[in-house]
Amino acid sequence: MNRILIVEDEEKLARLEADYLHNAGFETFCLADGLAVVPWLKENSVDLILLDLMLPGRDGLDLCRDIRRFSTVPIIMVTARIEEVDRLLGLELGADDYICKPFSPREMTARVKAVLRRMQPLAMEPVSNLLKLDPQSFRVSVGKLETELTAVEFQLLQTMYQQPGRIFSRARLMDLMYQDQRIVSDRTIDSHIKKLRKKLADLLPGQELIHSVYGAGYRYEAPNRNSD
Ligand code: CA
Repeated sequence: MNRILIVEDEEKLARLEADYLHNAGFETFCLADGLAVVPWLKENSVDLILLDLMLPGRDGLDLCRDIRRFSTVPIIMVTARIEEVDRLLGLELGADDYICKPFSPREMTARVKAVLRRMQPLAMEPVSNLLKLDPQSFRVSVGKLETELTAVEFQLLQTMYQQPGRIFSRARLMDLMYQDQRIVSDRTIDSHIKKLRKKLADLLPGQELIHSVYGAGYRYEAPNRNSD
């Protein structure tokens, strides 16, 4: 189920957005204070953010810029000021779409779905196929070199590999492991990642594929073809 964070200080509107998204099959979380957003995102992972422009604490522009420093999560800006739209979609800011207030909840739901759909093929297609994963044998290979991973290591790698550049919190990774009937702690994730990195380093010496993002989690970057 896709998880949506609604950042909106008008309580009634936030509830309306949440109701509609919930009916459309999304799991929703609401924050009303701009200052709460970044700390929340460092602890939780979502698939999309609906971000209101005018907020107490920190405004949506400032937040969007800041979120882009550590996450590629799709962001839809919500604004009552049509004249802001060009700036909102500017590259510098990194928002993926916008909705102008007042909007119909149906339109909002359609936009959310459209942005998620747009992200999907990209997300599922690794940037580089240099690294090959075989789910049957839990083997990962680069050219003729290959190494065998444990089931957990393979799952961790596969999860991040499918969405290069995206940050996965330890909590999110643990959720994924939990579906596999395993109960693990933060430190267990770290130790699996450590072993995984070591194995990947044998395949691609000198290249770091799994990056630690301070205070947020881990991120996979596809290997560079030009280096050997
Ligand atoms: Ca507002």
